[in-house]
Amino acid sequence: MTTAQEHSTTELRRLAEEAGRDLEDAPALDVLRWAAETFGRRFCVTSSMEDAVVAHLASRVFPGVPVVFLDTGYHFPETIGTRDAVAAVMDVEVITLTPRQSVAQQDARYGPKLHDRDPDLCCSLRKVQPLEEGLRSYDAWATGLRRDESPTRAGTPVVAWDERRQKVKVSPIARWTQEDVDAYVTEHGVLTNPLLSDGYASVGCGPCTRRVLAGEDARAGRWAGQGKSECGIHL
Ligand code: SF4
Repeated sequence: MTTAQEHSTTELRRLAEEAGRDLEDAPALDVLRWAAETFGRRFCVTSSMEDAVVAHLASRVFPGVPVVFLDTGYHFPETIGTRDAVAAVMDVEVITLTPRQSVAQQDARYGPKLHDRDPDLCCSLRKVQPLEEGLRSYDAWATGLRRDESPTRAGTPVVAWDERRQKVKVSPIARWTQEDVDAYVTEHGVLTNPLLSDGYASVGCGPCTRRVLAGEDARAGRWAGQGKSECGIHL
């Protein structure tokens, strides 16, 4: 993959708006091919290491694609293991971002278990800020957001302008269902987080994730009982 030219903010916005119209119904691989050809090394995939579906798709059209992972310091061991397995066996470059403060430093500054008292601040410090700093090297980023995950994600566009970060945001599997994901995982032998086979439908930080109950949507196990459904990265 050659290094594409850096685009101005005006050009990026135009590219996002055009692709948002043109690629709304395109297959995920075509969306990712467009992003790779348009942005080259200034395009990355972000992954929570719940599964490696988007990373796998991207690696098929962009071998060595950067895959950005946020290590909050609160992940399940299974999530860190999935990241390490992805780095070992897939044709991607895993880039791990960490918050400015360790958990111990955050505890010293804000008191222990900030996630129980102010999860928005905890997510801001451990997810939102590190991602915004890490994305400075890129013009476009891909996510694994899907419309069927929750009501808050039902309107996810395939390609859109990320006003907050002034970047192109690509969600190539936005139109996929859970069945589509499962079929792709099976067909291609894609790595998934072992917790998905242990009652978890969505995997985030350990203190803020529980198994889902029958009839709940996929993200009901995230920040359960805290009146929060998103960490802030996708708001
Ligand atoms: Fe903190 Fe929980 Fe957010 Fe992780 S998900 S950053 S532990 S509030």
